Amino acid sequence: MSELFERSAAEIAREVNERRVSASELTQAALAHVRANDGEIGAYLLVLDELAKETALRVDERIARGERLPLAGVPLAVKDNMCLTGTRTTCASRILERWTAPYTATAVARMLDAGCVPIGKTNLDEFAMGSSCENSALGVTRNPYDLERVPGGSSGGSAAAVAAREAAVGMGSDTGGSIREPGAFCNVIGFKPTYGRVSRYGLIAFASSLDQIGPLTRTVEDAALAYDAMAGHDPMDSTSIARAVEPSATTLREDLQGLRIGIVREFGLDPLGAAMKAVYERAYRDLEALGARLVEVSLPTADYGLATYYLIAPAECSSNLARFDGVRYGLQVQAGDVATMNSRTRAAGFGPEVKRRVLIGTYALSSGYYDAYYVRAQKARTLVARDFAQAFDKCDLIACPATSCPPFLLGAKSDPYSMYLMDYYTIPMSLAGIPALSVPCGWVDEGDVPLPIGLQLTAPHFAEPLLLGAAHAYEQATQHALRCRPESFDCASRAQDRLRAKSRDRR
Ligand code: GLN
Repeated sequence: MSELFERSAAEIAREVNERRVSASELTQAALAHVRANDGEIGAYLLVLDELAKETALRVDERIARGERLPLAGVPLAVKDNMCLTGTRTTCASRILERWTAPYTATAVARMLDAGCVPIGKTNLDEFAMGSSCENSALGVTRNPYDLERVPGGSSGGSAAAVAAREAAVGMGSDTGGSIREPGAFCNVIGFKPTYGRVSRYGLIAFASSLDQIGPLTRTVEDAALAYDAMAGHDPMDSTSIARAVEPSATTLREDLQGLRIGIVREFGLDPLGAAMKAVYERAYRDLEALGARLVEVSLPTADYGLATYYLIAPAECSSNLARFDGVRYGLQVQAGDVATMNSRTRAAGFGPEVKRRVLIGTYALSSGYYDAYYVRAQKARTLVARDFAQAFDKCDLIACPATSCPPFLLGAKSDPYSMYLMDYYTIPMSLAGIPALSVPCGWVDEGDVPLPIGLQLTAPHFAEPLLLGAAHAYEQATQHALRCRPESFDCASRAQDRLRAKSRDRR
């Protein structure tokens, strides 16, 4: 049997429910592993030792009373832009560095109710703006598969925690790719549900029409269990959808018989380079081998996704972040009058990327430019959503890359534009509000160790059970995220052996 902290959420819940191990024992093991491991990785901004132990005790009491909990005792990593009563919630920003949340986000509360134990709050790009975690003002997070590389962003801390076995489930938020991309970079599942499926109450807003909470896990089954626990209507979030959630953990499939999977004409694989192209071609063949019929679909306006997103998201961010004025939350830099206090607080509290977004957004919303930029971006957004609706007339799911490159070296992307390009494949789904996930699909031989990349699958609104079901079939058949110990690079070297064996076969 694997070490306690190595087990999947499903295994942990089974054992805790059957009282073969207690949530308290598991929590001790998880905390010890975090202490031993996280110095190197830097996934957590804050480890919640006391709260974790108290919560575990309460889970054990509930089990002793005969309750069965879907996520009993499961160690949970929470991205630090989600509120948890009485704990610091920083958004990895100086402006909130010492702010303590007075209430708990609905999605987090639901996970705790389902039996999760909160191990800690994880690092992110400041206010979730970025693709590598390097925009965090509070620390560096490293990719567990290669410590010189980024874990992806903005939910990089949760992805790295799950990859490094420092939690079984991570909670992330995805505005333009921030769950799927770190999922791909850290060889885990990153799942963004339909917009409105998971309450945003208590998620500190970046771009409210796009933000969505979802899980990062090591198996698709775990993603389904976590989604089933966190999804559902919440009167505290006016965009939350009042429609029953069909459970997805009970409808996982073993094959793709009868499914039509769309391959996007405009997403040619050549620009990705030979190594990534080969991995995706293989992934598409594997989907076919599992019984799916591949059909070509077109998303003619997907190319406008990036430009559209980088107007709408900053516009909403400039409005959402106006609340950090030195009066209501967090940092205050003293000055003689309120306006100076306000501007000095924001100058000292926000990092360069956040300031850039606020400037772009304020500009796009200002009179004279509003119609030219913001309104046009909204129209383009409608077109992108319409493209997907038309494509889904021809197919049940769409498969495409999750990222435009493998995990890159820390510091390698210094200009903002090259960082924005990272989101090319994930933004269109965010604009359309449809569910999408990244599932490990293989390794690219670049640098010293092979690097993980992800296959993105996306589905129409509310088709989470189908999406997770299909991802499960692919995962079970391919096993790219084999149980592995990234901290010792066992997994990477196994992958290297496989690659060598394969090239031998070809010769
Ligand atoms: N990388 C994108 C950005 O910087 C997406 C971030 C996110 O999804 N939160 O805005």
